[in-house]
Amino acid sequence: MKFPFVSAAMLALAVSACSITAKPASPLAHSVATGWVAQQAPGFYRFRLGDFRITVLSDGTAPRDLPKIMSKPEAVRAAFTASHQALPVELSINAYLIDTGEKRILVDTGAGVLFGPSSGYLVANLHAGGYSAEDIDVILLTHIHGDHSGGLSIGGKPVFPKAIVYVDRRDPAHWLSAEEEAKAPANRRTTFVQSHQTVDPYVRAGRLQTFDGPTELFPGIRTVPEYGHTPGLTGYMLESEGKQLLLWGDIIHAAEVQFADPTLTIDYDVDPVMAIATRQRVLQGAARQGYLVGGAHLSFPGIGHVRFDNGRYAWVPAPYQAKP
Ligand SMILES: [Zn+2]
Ligand SMILES: [Zn+2]
Repeated sequence: MKFPFVSAAMLALAVSACSITAKPASPLAHSVATGWVAQQAPGFYRFRLGDFRITVLSDGTAPRDLPKIMSKPEAVRAAFTASHQALPVELSINAYLIDTGEKRILVDTGAGVLFGPSSGYLVANLHAGGYSAEDIDVILLTHIHGDHSGGLSIGGKPVFPKAIVYVDRRDPAHWLSAEEEAKAPANRRTTFVQSHQTVDPYVRAGRLQTFDGPTELFPGIRTVPEYGHTPGLTGYMLESEGKQLLLWGDIIHAAEVQFADPTLTIDYDVDPVMAIATRQRVLQGAARQGYLVGGAHLSFPGIGHVRFDNGRYAWVPAPYQAKP
């Protein structure tokens, strides 16, 4: 996805309201009041993948009027109507903590202060799940876009004081390049500005590491190129004890329509033609090989499988587990 413009005043407000290193006052704290409050329970979901302990972290949601920002708007609108879904739809923003026993690895960081009040809850939910920002050794970015990299920094300061950030070299080569910014259409300028605001603090600290295509970054964690939506979009394939999970980032924005028709694109796709080919390849791999999938914008916690029947892909959410 991408991101509304954030004013300096909003950023200043967020900085003053938020200490970077101290435990933040939980936005959920007032839920101890009796009666109904307009707030959900903390958004985290735990499960195991072999030896890896995984916590899906909700950063919140982002309302999007999808027919206005997707190809074939009439087909998209009809699909939402047939599914009895109101528009704009609330798209989940999911991130993941992988506790390998040796390292704590965060995959994506949510939107931070870039998206407004329905998101930016990742660090609060990390605390609710038993970890803190200081615990994070490594951050794997699926790509640079405000809802994935926006939570890296607030007010120009890193939120994660120890973490080394990994990303495919193609994304910083695009989003941090003055030359690319000068060539970009006006509606992408905000993303370039926000990329500098949130990623540059790690570049300055020598904590941004790039990789180039398929790489095993850590034992049991390898990168899967998914280029198209952004130049360097990357999935992370986890494998432990023979079990596999692909955290695919932005392969699907609108589950209601893009599993059935993978040729539907969204305005945020930098290369829509490549994004379609990638989506078809990734869906085919997931359906044929049957591994578990985690999607950044599938309804929280967004863990499940891809099925293929009658010539169409479909999403099968994993059953809820009370005892992970
Ligand atoms: Zn996204
Ligand atoms: Zn994106």
